[in-house]
Parts: sequence; structure tokens; C-alpha cells
Amino acid sequence: METVKTLKLRIKDKHAKALLAMARDVNTVWNFCNETQYRSLRRYTNKPQRWLSGFDLQKLTNGFSKCDGVYIGSSTQQAVCEEFATRLRQFKKQRLNWRVSNKTSPKYSLGWIPFKKGALTYKNGQVRFKGIHMSLWDSYGLSKYEFRAGSFNEDSRGRWYLNVVVKCQTEAKPVQYGASAIGIDLGLKTLATDSNGGKFEPKQWYRESEAALGIAQRARKKARVRAIHAKIANQRKDAIHKETTRLVKAHAIIFVGNVNAKALAKTPMAKSVHDAAWTTFRTQLKYKAMRQCVVFEEINEAFSTQTCSCCGKIPASSPKGRASLRIRAWICSECGATHDRDTNAAKNILAAGLRRLAAGIPAL
Ligand SMILES: [Zn+2]
Repeated sequence: METVKTLKLRIKDKHAKALLAMARDVNTVWNFCNETQYRSLRRYTNKPQRWLSGFDLQKLTNGFSKCDGVYIGSSTQQAVCEEFATRLRQFKKQRLNWRVSNKTSPKYSLGWIPFKKGALTYKNGQVRFKGIHMSLWDSYGLSKYEFRAGSFNEDSRGRWYLNVVVKCQTEAKPVQYGASAIGIDLGLKTLATDSNGGKFEPKQWYRESEAALGIAQRARKKARVRAIHAKIANQRKDAIHKETTRLVKAHAIIFVGNVNAKALAKTPMAKSVHDAAWTTFRTQLKYKAMRQCVVFEEINEAFSTQTCSCCGKIPASSPKGRASLRIRAWICSECGATHDRDTNAAKNILAAGLRRLAAGIPAL
């Protein structure tokens, strides 16, 4: 089977200087496109507005990459023109933002060097781009892949990454997947609780980083704070990846509550540290499930917390409203079942999902 995906790899810092020089050329091409587009609109005010196409811009910038002292090649020049034309159509503005090369400016544009298919090659653990052999942390085993288009990108810490679309052959080997169904409740206190009582909480894994963050913030070390924030985000994303992969491998049917961070933010409900994580979690589950032919459904989670998963009633004793956020466990006043708040919700989500599936199966 042939698949296409995007890989992100960290380029070793010793190449930063060469990349920055190329990024400056990229900015020159971009700003030239911007200026040209703006002027052509100003000049022909009596004519209907015309947006220059990527092809027009390529013709206008033709030859730039052959000039002395220019580091980028025609592949990058064309990619910049195309990207500019795309953004222009998208934003419908007379002029886009200038790209700023001056590192000391607050408006500095993080380095960006796009390229088209064929501009990047791989050999002996290094990538070759515009005659430069670059070392990188090859966490994917690049020799397996065929490169397509991509870009080099700088982050706020001045580190460079290669983002490249690749084509790869995946062997269609039979994998043993679970046959069970599971319900998942996304919560404020615990990120994800499943209907079997499992809890997934990535937070405890990066407590060390959080302590370090506090120290750096008090010492007002901006670069360090940024670095730790990036580390925490990476740790969280990695933890969520592992958990969603595990869930998809272990189950044939997955139901997730449709808790909505945006809607919740409008209520007096406490802002959760999980806002972003909920979306990440659900999105990852969805695409991984799709890839593995696992049934994935989002379930309306209204009343999932208040209803007893044992007797199906909404007993007087169940947690309700904002004040109940502190109630982590409760006993059903109708049937006497003991519940963990989130596990009970996950069980209700599972039951609702199964009911929906059953209703969706046409009568034979
Ligand atoms: Zn009950």
C-alpha cells in the first residue's frame, strides 16, 4: 500500500547560518511579489482587480536565483511565488505582510525555505539541498522514503526543522486488533477516562518540567521559559499519541464524548488545562481509527455524568452542575451502585454509542 505523510526532523544547529542566508533570499522574493502585486493594483485602478498568479510571479522573478550572492535555487523561488499567490487568493488583501529578515525586529519572520519535489535528496544519513549536505536527527530512517515537496522552518528558539512530504510503502501485514467496544469520557480533572475504569492523565509525567518552568519564570529567563513550554507541549503530544495508538489497537469500536472546550469556556466552568488536549486526543483517535477501520463516533455527552450507568436513572445523589465538580465518587440513591464519576460517564457514553449503532443498523 502506498501512503503519503509529512515528516518533521530537526536539522543540526551548525547549518543554521546557511539556512538563515537562504531565508533572507526567500524574504526578498516574497517582498518583491508583494510589492509587484500592490503596484499592479494601484496602477490599473480603472480595471477590475487582478490577482497575480503563481505563474505570473515566477515569470517576473525569473533569473533571481541565478544572480550572484543568491543562495536559493529556482525550486525555492517557484515555491515562494506559488505560496504567495495562494495566500493572496485566500486573504483577498491588496498586500500581505512583509517578511522581515532583521532578527532584532519584533516583527521578525521566522525563517522559512520552501522547496518543490526533486530539490531534496538523501545520502548516507544526510540530506542534500542546494549543494549543502546537512546532518539531522534522523528519527524516521529517511532512506526508506521518497521525498516530495517540503520546507525548512525555523522555530522561536532559532532551531531549524525539515518538514517534508514523503511517499512510503507500508506492508499490509495482518495485525491483531481487539474486538471490544469502549466509551471514553474527556474530563476537566482527568484527561480521559474509559468505560473499563482506565484513566489517562499525561500531566503527572511532566511535573519535573513544570517545576523548572516555575523557576525560569520567576528568574524572568524568557528563552528558557519558551524552551520548557515547547518541551511540555512535546511531552504531552507524545503521551497522547501513545495512548490513542494503544486505544485503536485494543478496540474495534470507540465512542468519545463530544465535550466542547469552546462552549465550556463561555460558561462559568473553570478553564481546563485540557482545552487543547481534548481536541488533539479526539483528532488523533479519529484519524487513527479511520486508518485501522475501527468504528469511531462522537457521542452527545449530555447527562452522561448525572445518569447512573447501572440502573439508567438520574438519581438525586448524582453529581449535577458546577458545584458537583468536586464530587469524584458517588453512590446511586436508586440502586445503590457505587460510581467513580468519570468511569460512570464513560460507561454512559459507551451505552449511548451502542444504542446509536444498533439503531443505525437497517432491519434485514
Ligand atoms: Zn443506579
